[in-house]
Order: sequence, then structure tokens, then C-alpha cells
Amino acid sequence: MNGHRPLHDSKVRVLRTTFAIAVATLLCGRIVDAAPVQFVVVGADHALARNTIDILDAAHEEMARLSGVALRDTVAVVYVSSAQSFDSVVGGHFPDWGVAAAVSRQNLIAVRSPAEHPLGRELRSILRHELAHLHLDAMTRGWTVPRWMHEGYAQQFGHDWRFGDDWTVARAVLSGSILTLRDIDGVNSFRSASAQLAYAQSYLAMGFYLHAYGWQGLQLFTDAIAANQNWDEALQAATGIDYAGFEAEFEDYLRSRYNWAAFLGDTALLWIVLVAAFVILYLFKRRSSRRRLAEWERQEEWEDLILGWDRALPTRAPDNPSHPPRRQCALI
Ligand SMILES: [Zn+2]
Repeated sequence: MNGHRPLHDSKVRVLRTTFAIAVATLLCGRIVDAAPVQFVVVGADHALARNTIDILDAAHEEMARLSGVALRDTVAVVYVSSAQSFDSVVGGHFPDWGVAAAVSRQNLIAVRSPAEHPLGRELRSILRHELAHLHLDAMTRGWTVPRWMHEGYAQQFGHDWRFGDDWTVARAVLSGSILTLRDIDGVNSFRSASAQLAYAQSYLAMGFYLHAYGWQGLQLFTDAIAANQNWDEALQAATGIDYAGFEAEFEDYLRSRYNWAAFLGDTALLWIVLVAAFVILYLFKRRSSRRRLAEWERQEEWEDLILGWDRALPTRAPDNPSHPPRRQCALI
């Protein structure tokens, strides 16, 4: 509980009907789990709980429709106040800078209370991101997939592509320092100096996978993983190429998307460059104007000091003869 601002510890239970899932089944022609998922929100007032459920319901419907796999049972969404230990809620060490976590084995999403922690991202994006982590685990029945795939999948649903990510990737490609997917799978890649690049590449890798092999390709992959095949075998079954082959395809894609020719021909990137150049120019001009203003002020002070008697004379508008004309100052 929050000691400073009491939160109404309400539990809002909304039983979802199977209607959306049935529609999803008809639309995508796959068999999906018919059992409804129920979101239970803890540690939020009524408005936040209602908003949370609406966001998660919409996100879950989208995921179920696209993938053919629905979550089941109850998913608890816990808003963690500063008085609580995040670690004790999620059951493990959680970094100070993190704002949310998903724990599949507990069907749990934990989010730092927005009343106390500026989340930095929209709540909708955060909830969709965490739900996608649970959803991918449901697709693989809890078996592990490459980390870039997990993060990339969650970011795709969270729409987590941020201003500057294009720059990060473009700089890495043009300087020959992109991370391999195996690098990203390393334990520290998301907490190191290259974390932003690891996230951005994960986003792009998952986007590339879905674009190249579609949802069916993802379904085949997760089914193979759920059947206890390793990543090589699962990728081979889903795409016809193994992990190294996919990695090579993805790097080719990155190089084709982020080369100088593409950079100059890509309208979006060009606009980013132009806007960035404009902002830099504006900041530079503002800085130099301020400097010039400060110089003028210093000069005024100096002149006031030298010609103080003159500056003390009343000024007048040119059309107001009631005031004497201002003396011209002549500094010799
Ligand atoms: Zn994530």
C-alpha cells in the first residue's frame, strides 16, 4: 500500500465472453482455445482498473485473432506501490529502472504504480508489451525461445519503436557494429551500453520474421518449440533455414534497409534528418541569440555606467513634444 496516497485496493473482475475468440476462430480459420481469459487488477482505483482491463481485452483479442492462440485462466495485473517490494511481487531480482514485468508461470503482470512512478511510456504500450510476453509463452507452452524473439514480439505489440531507434540502428550498420542475434541472446545485452541497439534490433528481427514468414511461420515455430525441438530444428521446420541462416537473412535485410543509398532515398529517414538538422540549427541560433543578448545587456550596463546621466533622461515618443528631445550621446 502507498503510505502517502491511499489507493483503493479494488479487485475488478471481468469475465470475458468467448464471443471474441469465436469470431477470431472464424476469421483466421484456426482452432483457438475457447476458454476465456479473465483479468484481475489489484492495487488500482476503479478508473485505472477499468482502463487496464479495456487495454488488455483489446490487446488479447488482437493477439488471439492473429495467432490463433488465446490465453486462458486468470491473469493478475498488480500495480506495485513504493511501499511494496517489486522483487517480492515478481519473485526475483527486478532492476530499479524497470517499470513492469510479466511472469508467465504465475500468469502475472506487475507494473509500478503510475501514481508514484512516472512510467515514461504510455500505459497502453506497457500493458500490451507485457501481455505479449505472456502470450508468446502460451504459444510455446512455456518453452524458451530466443530472447530477441521474446523482446521483439513484445515490442511489436507494444508499438515500442521510438524516436532515435532508426539512428541507433543506422549508425550501427554504417559503422559495422550491429549485434548478432546470438549476442542479443546473451544475458547482459539488454542492460549494457548497447541495450538500445539490442531492443531496436529485436524489434526489427521480429518484424522481419513476421513479414517474411507470416503468422503461420510463427505458429509453426512455436509449435515446434512446444514439441521440444531446439531453435535450429524449429526454425528449419518453420522457415526452411536454421538459426544461422535466419541470422544471415536478417543481417542482409538490415544492411539493405540502412545503407547510404536507402538512407538518402528513404523519405522517413530523410525527414528525420531534416527535422533533426532543423532542431539543431534552431538550438544553435537560440543559443547564439542568447549570447548576443547577454553581450548587449553587458554593453548597456557599461554604457549606463559611462553615460548614466544621459540614460536617466526621460524618453518620449517621437510624436510627443511635451518631453524634451533625447540628447544624442557622443562618446569620444
Ligand atoms: Zn519486454
